[in-house]
Amino acid sequence: MKKEIDRIIAKPSQPGMVGDGFRVYNYIPGANISQQRISPFLLLDFNPEYDFGPSDHIRGVGVHPHKGFETVTIAYKGSVAHNDSSGSSGVINPGDVQWMTAGSGILHKEYHEQKFSKKGGPFEMVQLWVNLPKKDKSTPAHYQAITEEQMSKVVLPGGKGVVNVIAGTFNGTKGPAQTYSPVNLFDVKLKKDGEIATILPSEYNTAILLINGKAEINGEIANEHSFVLFKNAGEEIIIKAIEDSVLLVLSGEPLNEPIASYGPFVMNTQQEIIESIEEFQSGKFGVLN
Ligand code: MN
Repeated sequence: MKKEIDRIIAKPSQPGMVGDGFRVYNYIPGANISQQRISPFLLLDFNPEYDFGPSDHIRGVGVHPHKGFETVTIAYKGSVAHNDSSGSSGVINPGDVQWMTAGSGILHKEYHEQKFSKKGGPFEMVQLWVNLPKKDKSTPAHYQAITEEQMSKVVLPGGKGVVNVIAGTFNGTKGPAQTYSPVNLFDVKLKKDGEIATILPSEYNTAILLINGKAEINGEIANEHSFVLFKNAGEEIIIKAIEDSVLLVLSGEPLNEPIASYGPFVMNTQQEIIESIEEFQSGKFGVLN
């Protein structure tokens, strides 16, 4: 049975700035999608293609904490550099994904990669926050740097497109990201008239973001930058590209645990939030300049 569409949400009316480097539209929870409704996903910020122009000043967001969940950064255009309090650093280039497990707490900063910043050019990026199950919230912080080449690929016949499987399984092909609860995340690129069909469990919370293009999804038209939210009914999704399209498919098993959320801290109770702020203020997340 086809998965039923709950609603197709247009791009929110106003972008917000994260630091001075990310011009994002907030779809989760901003488009009135509660964190329980879309669990295990907590937040989805989308920076549609935007040319920041050349700059000697490196744009981005300075040192800030995270605890109790994972941040997943997906680069489509432009490059993002990051540093964290565990001493790790790296660059996320177009097609790459950084899957950071904040777990018990980390400090990091995210900014435009230096060469990209100086040269300027189109920048297009998604940041998705994935909650951790209660039992895994105090796992030590770490990250997975997944390059475009490392992703499992399902290539459509006739050059009609490719599915980069970031996490979970697409039609039997498993992606490289390790997750703490069942999560499917697919970077789908379709040429005009390209078509895919897949099955995702009805109980999983599922949505599709139209990064670029226009597509027919289970018989309904989704325009560029719209967000298709599915009901928990039916399993099959059929996507037909009306134009060349890039889509992000997200689907995960709901955690069904209480959510206490305060900025960059996501725990299960208010008491744990208070403790997290105290840990952050007392320097337990380490040091980063
Ligand atoms: Mn961050």
